[in-house]
Amino acid sequence: MSFEDLNLNTPLYNALEDLGFTIPTPIQAQAFNVVSSGKDMVGIAQTGTGKTFAYMLPILKNLKYSTQENPRVLILVPTRELVVQVVDEIEKLSKYINNRVLGVYGGTNINTQKQAVAQGIDILVATPGRLYDLALSRVLQLKSIQKLVIDEVDVMLDLGFRHQLINIFDILPERRQNIMFSATMTQDVDMLISDFFKSPERVSIAVSGTPLENILQTRYNVPNFYTKVNLLTYLLNDTETFNRVLVFVAYKRMADRLFEKLDDIFHDELCVIHSNKTQNYRLRSIEQFRNGENRILIATDVMARGLDIDNVSHVINFDTPLYPENYMHRIGRTGRAEREGKSIAFSTEAEQEAMEGIEALMNMKIPLLEMPTVVEVSTELIEEERPQIKERNNPIKRKSEDVAGSAFHEKKAKNQKENLGGSYKFKIAKKYKKPKTRGDKNYNKRNKRK
Ligand code: AMP
Repeated sequence: MSFEDLNLNTPLYNALEDLGFTIPTPIQAQAFNVVSSGKDMVGIAQTGTGKTFAYMLPILKNLKYSTQENPRVLILVPTRELVVQVVDEIEKLSKYINNRVLGVYGGTNINTQKQAVAQGIDILVATPGRLYDLALSRVLQLKSIQKLVIDEVDVMLDLGFRHQLINIFDILPERRQNIMFSATMTQDVDMLISDFFKSPERVSIAVSGTPLENILQTRYNVPNFYTKVNLLTYLLNDTETFNRVLVFVAYKRMADRLFEKLDDIFHDELCVIHSNKTQNYRLRSIEQFRNGENRILIATDVMARGLDIDNVSHVINFDTPLYPENYMHRIGRTGRAEREGKSIAFSTEAEQEAMEGIEALMNMKIPLLEMPTVVEVSTELIEEERPQIKERNNPIKRKSEDVAGSAFHEKKAKNQKENLGGSYKFKIAKKYKKPKTRGDKNYNKRNKRK
């Protein structure tokens, strides 16, 4: 397929020619018609696959010239670095198009950004916090937004932006197209999609279910977290074989928990990365792992995505990924550059189904190893592993006659007043001609104008 097949327009073709791009990447080829159709879409694609142009090509093709001031396209990204990068990409692609692109992010002077917003924008690229602040200040009007792109949804949610995103959904026009991109599928991403979007079309470059032949995969059945810790400790004690080990866990609480357990034994050889750690801490951890100062790195799926480290001797799946694609991404961290790599997966009873999913995707069975007898089997369970107790005849439960009812005392007179809220304030203000509250600036303005 060539760009000609996408029926773009001359300004876009000229820009692509200047960039020297002739063939759309797979995600660009697949996303083009879906984005053009106006349907909601979720694209599963990693950085480096050309995902920015995957949404920008159809958006720019269909964006008409306008002199209106309010932005029509909003692109939300998790970090300021990405704001800068996306703005840069859009500018390259818009070289021969007359449009206004602006990037805004936190940690810089908001007033300068307000002035820039007031100049008029077509496409706004923003981090969620700063976008919300600008919208609240009313300098930025979002009523004309027709397309919302959320890039790196997995990272957004991992960084704790869920509430901010929901707040933003609330102030956007309901009739809009939602376009999302995520590198990994996680439960958080799945939940956000099912809570807020109407069956968006999924576009993904099929993850190859064929693992590299030079990766030797094995697995263990392990009853619970503490036994997994014992098995991992046993394996890691063989420092010669396990000389650069990437340990994957699904979420950050588990990463911290495992780090705590291993820290006593492997203190000087151990580091961890997840999104609650500062950028500096993460960069330092990765560097120490890369240069061999640390032998063991614990990481979550989302954070390990961008890792480019050679010579990883073992990938250990401390848990079994629920999404088989994540397993493929994880094991692909070893066996790079044709070297021999090894991956080991730990699965509890509850994780057997996920393991079956992985084996089905690869169309192969992963050899099951016997737990070494010296590894102590623990019976202690962590919170998530304990059975949820559903007591039907709970003896502590109140009988229906003594269920707490409403308070029996009368409310004090001052508490009985109705809360009349904002409109009451305005009524009083009108009646007395003067603002009754210091903050009623609108009233002052209105009266000045009269
Ligand atoms: P992204 O995944 O959007 O971060 O893009 C990764 C890099 O690939 C960027 O530097 C793009 O400029 C470049 N790129 C995007 N589309 C193409 C293409 N069709 N052919 C070659 N390079 C591309």
